[in-house]
Amino acid sequence: MKIAIIGAGIGGLTAALGLQRDGHRVRLFERQPELQGIGAGLSLFGNSFAALDAIGLGETVRGASGTEAAVFKGGQRAPSGEWLVVLPPAATATLRAAHRAELHRALVSALEPGTLRLGADASVSPDGAPRITVNGRTESFDRAIAADGINSRARRTLGIDPGLRYAGYTAWRGVTDGPFDLGGVAGETWGRGHRFGMLPLPGGRAYWFATATVPPLEPPGDSHEELLRRFGGWHRPVAELLEATSPAAVLRHDINDLAAPLPSFGRGQTLLLGDAAHAMTPDLGQGAGQAVEDAVAVVLLARAGRLGLDAYDHARRRRSQLVARRSRAMGRVGQLSSPVAAGLRDAALRLVPGGMVGAAAMKFQRWEHPR
Ligand SMILES: Cc1cc2nc3c(=O)[nH]c(=O)nc-3n(C[C@H](O)[C@H](O)[C@H](O)COP(=O)(O)OP(=O)(O)OC[C@H]3O[C@@H](n4cnc5c(N)ncnc54)[C@H](O)[C@@H]3O)c2cc1C
Repeated sequence: MKIAIIGAGIGGLTAALGLQRDGHRVRLFERQPELQGIGAGLSLFGNSFAALDAIGLGETVRGASGTEAAVFKGGQRAPSGEWLVVLPPAATATLRAAHRAELHRALVSALEPGTLRLGADASVSPDGAPRITVNGRTESFDRAIAADGINSRARRTLGIDPGLRYAGYTAWRGVTDGPFDLGGVAGETWGRGHRFGMLPLPGGRAYWFATATVPPLEPPGDSHEELLRRFGGWHRPVAELLEATSPAAVLRHDINDLAAPLPSFGRGQTLLLGDAAHAMTPDLGQGAGQAVEDAVAVVLLARAGRLGLDAYDHARRRRSQLVARRSRAMGRVGQLSSPVAAGLRDAALRLVPGGMVGAAAMKFQRWEHPR
């Protein structure tokens, strides 16, 4: 088949590579004029790797990802550093963190030359016909796949966009400039209306993120100063991580997800993939993982000669939309701001055995072949 893919994020790249390796003629359109070197960390769990293995891409992605986290003590801490819950090693055994830009580069370099067209702002056809218009020129394909991210224009063009809704908090993300010793621990720290998380990356660097409950679209201001003000008094090595990161490399985004689940992931012969189909909050670390699962489903359905909207919806809607719902619910608990509510949450966490929390975390880390 001749297949057009819009968007060279993790979803579009995975689909392009998988389809190309199966012998399909793939064109990948990316509107950025060059591959961006920016980005922070991305956590990928076992479900992503099991899915990637099914289409022969697991090793490519493992090569660009960090150590599996089983060797780290993980779980939730209080800002004092007290462990509220320690996860059993199995809950994080398959977790790997990658630097987004490096992961993208690894996937791009595995594409056949000429597949990726940069500076190509692409649009789909409103009726779902597999026609792509790039810079005023329209070309027909057998299928069109829009992996154009959370602000997907394809979703709007197809007339199925419910809009985005603010999750109530903003997030900063950063990667240390050089090696940083996390002292054998990873995971999240939950305060009131604030969270801080850290994970090891390849090359000994560390990825961290911080969240704060604030009104939407608050002017960004000086990230470094604000982060130190909000998190500087938290346990080690929170302040040290902030100090080890160039302020200019810190990213800040308000967190949104889709205002309502889509009734279908596309129209006609045009399919939506990744955030375009089910943008979710990052609270379960599954946004990229679900984009990978979509891409693998596309490849496997094409392999079976069944790449159409009904089969794709059947394979992907239920699971990805459940993950999105759970992710938002997790974010609400993590961002609790009132002292009473956050205190009760922390007390409950202290009482719940790590194994139970681990079992809940592992629920989404398994992947099933979409037969
Ligand atoms: C703060 C934060 C932390 C996160 N942490 C994690 C995490 O730890 N783990 C995890 O799994 N997920 C995480 N996510 C979510 C994850 O980043 C996304 O779910 C994932 O990147 C989605 O991939 P995608 O391929 O669907 O879209 P994207 O990566 O957004 O890629 C879309 C691409 O499409 C291109 N594009 C857009 N419009 C056009 C057009 N008209 N023509 C051509 N190209 C176009 C864009 O330039 C972009 O390159 C996080 C998100 C945020 C905001």
